[in-house]
Amino acid sequence: MHPDIALLTKYSQPGPRYTSYPPAPHFAEDFGIGQWRQEIIESQDSARPLSLYVHIPFCDTLCYYCGCNMVATQKYGKATEYLDFLKREIDAVAALADPARAVVQLHWGGGTPTFLKAEDIRDLAAHLRARFNFAADAEVSVEVDPRGLTREQVQALRESGFNRASLGVQDIDEKVQQAVNRIQPLSLIEEVYGWFRAEGFSSINLDLMTGLPHQTLDGYRKTLAEIVRLNPDRLAVFGYAHVPWLKKHQKLIVQSDLPNFATRMAMQELILDTLETAGYVHIGMDHFAKPEDELVKAQRGKTLWRNFQGYTTHRHADIYAFGASSISQTEDIYAQNEKRPDGYQKLVGEQGLATVKGYRMTTDDKIRRDVITELMCDLSLSKAAIESRWNIGFDDYFADSLRALEPLQADGLVEADAKEIRVTALGRLFLRNIAMGFDAYLNAPKKDAPRYSMTA
Ligand code: SF4
Repeated sequence: MHPDIALLTKYSQPGPRYTSYPPAPHFAEDFGIGQWRQEIIESQDSARPLSLYVHIPFCDTLCYYCGCNMVATQKYGKATEYLDFLKREIDAVAALADPARAVVQLHWGGGTPTFLKAEDIRDLAAHLRARFNFAADAEVSVEVDPRGLTREQVQALRESGFNRASLGVQDIDEKVQQAVNRIQPLSLIEEVYGWFRAEGFSSINLDLMTGLPHQTLDGYRKTLAEIVRLNPDRLAVFGYAHVPWLKKHQKLIVQSDLPNFATRMAMQELILDTLETAGYVHIGMDHFAKPEDELVKAQRGKTLWRNFQGYTTHRHADIYAFGASSISQTEDIYAQNEKRPDGYQKLVGEQGLATVKGYRMTTDDKIRRDVITELMCDLSLSKAAIESRWNIGFDDYFADSLRALEPLQADGLVEADAKEIRVTALGRLFLRNIAMGFDAYLNAPKKDAPRYSMTA
């Protein structure tokens, strides 16, 4: 089921991606190191697994579209110094955590985790394994920049227990790559992809991007054909968010080189057509996977969940996140570290942790998070299940939200009756718009209102 351009246009509006609820712009500075330390101590529950995240903020060069928290540098000494503080933060958290808790997931993101030399990859992974209790079948994943990667680094990752990799591709068109300062020929991508397969990685994801300068429908058709030929297990196709007022380096992208709205929308249709024809399932929120993939199975079994790393099968895990800008999460709170590496290192050096912002959820936040996550992951929700979990009358509690959904119902994006709300096949493209109906923070006073990327 594909949208027409009028529908995509109608629902293209700024909106959160709901990797958390409330979204990160609502985190406040009255939550710091003391609160996070106390929360770790009080939230220990040996039955609750852990998901670990490690942020490596360094990159060799700057991609002009980048929206990540990163530092472009050629000085490896910066990483060496950073790793020392990262390990200190890991030690501080591990010392407070119940050692019996199983780590079911570890993800290294960035920046570029493969900025690290092979010996540092091994050293950091060993440091984590010595301090936490990794499950034998833990998902251990890493974000990879194919440029400059060596086979030795891939071997170091595999020998350190990594079994999943996510390769940044974006587009294979040379003109597009030049315009965003990220040159990586298809032959390089193929070679690196082959290394991960040969080393026995069980799942490979490729990240693509639409809305980049000089992209055309024909050009993107060629990119998709080559990507499908590589046969990755998962694909994420993100839309470029041009927010130069937030990310100053995006001013290096010439605005007039960006594809117009109609082209972007036509690309959305092309992506759906091509990937569905190739046998991928559209999970939602720009993510696709093969039908036998765990994410697809979890979605069918209604156990899929969403967190700062995107979709996950680990619904009940607390997240302990390490490194600059990283965000930890328990049942009740979010805690975010200082974003700048030098500021992060200073705080860890002085206090062992680096939390500068956070949020303690109210009961209303938890109810809304539950509803939004169910809709975005399960693509349906049972009103009775929410009522019994939270002791509310769904239709009364969410009377405003249900009214806000009416136009989306009329457009065939959701179906709602006395028992259920269901996202239609078409509605999978509009999950953010559907979720926004349940967001109590969207009507924040104008001067404080965060500026989000567009939903389409
Ligand atoms: S490699 Fe990734 S994190 Fe680094 S500049 Fe490029 S897009 Fe940003």
